[in-house]
Amino acid sequence: MIQQGQTIGIIGGGQLGQMMALDAKLTGMRVIILDPTPDCPAGQCADDQIVAEYSDIAAIEELAQRSDVLTYEFENVDLKALEDVADKVYIPQGTQLLYTTKNRIREKTFLRDAGLQTAPFRAVKNRSDLDRAITELGYPCVLKTCEGGYDGHGQEVLHSASDLDKCDGILSTKDAILEGWVPFKEECSVMVARNENGEVTTFPVSENIHRNEILHLSIVPARIPGKLRKRAEEMAVKIADAINLCGILGVEMFVGDDGELYVNELAPRPHNSGHYTIEACNFSQFAIHNRAICNWPLPKIKLLQDVVMVNVLGQHVEGVRKMIAQKPDWHFHDYGKAEVRHNRKMGHVTILTDDLDTTVKEIADTHIWD
Ligand code: AMP
Repeated sequence: MIQQGQTIGIIGGGQLGQMMALDAKLTGMRVIILDPTPDCPAGQCADDQIVAEYSDIAAIEELAQRSDVLTYEFENVDLKALEDVADKVYIPQGTQLLYTTKNRIREKTFLRDAGLQTAPFRAVKNRSDLDRAITELGYPCVLKTCEGGYDGHGQEVLHSASDLDKCDGILSTKDAILEGWVPFKEECSVMVARNENGEVTTFPVSENIHRNEILHLSIVPARIPGKLRKRAEEMAVKIADAINLCGILGVEMFVGDDGELYVNELAPRPHNSGHYTIEACNFSQFAIHNRAICNWPLPKIKLLQDVVMVNVLGQHVEGVRKMIAQKPDWHFHDYGKAEVRHNRKMGHVTILTDDLDTTVKEIADTHIWD
């Protein structure tokens, strides 16, 4: 068990690392961040920051040397570098989880083998693989890069042969996946955490609404039948056990038109759709991640109040700042990023509520997110 006063090293200094660090500081841990941007969001809240690239082996070794436990805030961590320092520092999440989840084919194969439903998929390395996969799965379908994609980057929806021209960029990676289209009613996600002792806990299911492939709203509890919410949580536990999870994992799912749940993606870290937990639950996703990697016992999670979270992207910052004077009961989060850019996640707002639909309308009525 990692004790208060010991040091958590975090690879990655964005908002997820920042919120992990803030919780760790409240608990009395020391925190060191590795990130190439000086004064990055997490660096602002940590005891120290090593300013270096994520692939800088000497820097990762220094982080390992100075930490008692090592974690990360994103999945594109250099696996080899992590393996190299595994004998120097406790890495409770291991490398297998990252190896599986950083590649969409490996991830979906793992899910299928664990008995979970996903979109039908085929590995695609070149144009002839693509032609064959389209014949098998039909239109519409989605071509995605296996690695490195996020928020809709590195993917193309294909409706007909006329869309094939758009595939060259993705095919040039020689490592892609074609997925059959899952007609869905809703998208939702569940955060699940597990510690080294095998204790598991889940957070309430979030209903996620995206705009331009970027998360816009999280609505909790998800407005889907209670039976489905229960099933989603059970699926998350099944995944956590099958992958021998340590730490927190985000499980993204589609609620299909057929009423079935399909797992879309796994995120081996805190997730944007879990930010609501900071104010709405007895423990936040960041607190639970830290407890899990420190092998502290895990509590049963309670939703204290219904909640809506709305993301603040670069283009929303000005409008949202004006709201501070008007909305005394909104929780305004800002990650302290130096550069405001279109579609860049700059912060989020959390609104505890007794009526989800009214709150969703209150957000729309501001016209900030039009
Ligand atoms: P992803 O990067 O896999 O999370 O995909 C981004 C978004 O594209 C998802 O949130 C869905 O809205 C949509 N999408 C991705 N894959 C599929 C699929 N197989 N069927 C239907 N919609 C999809």
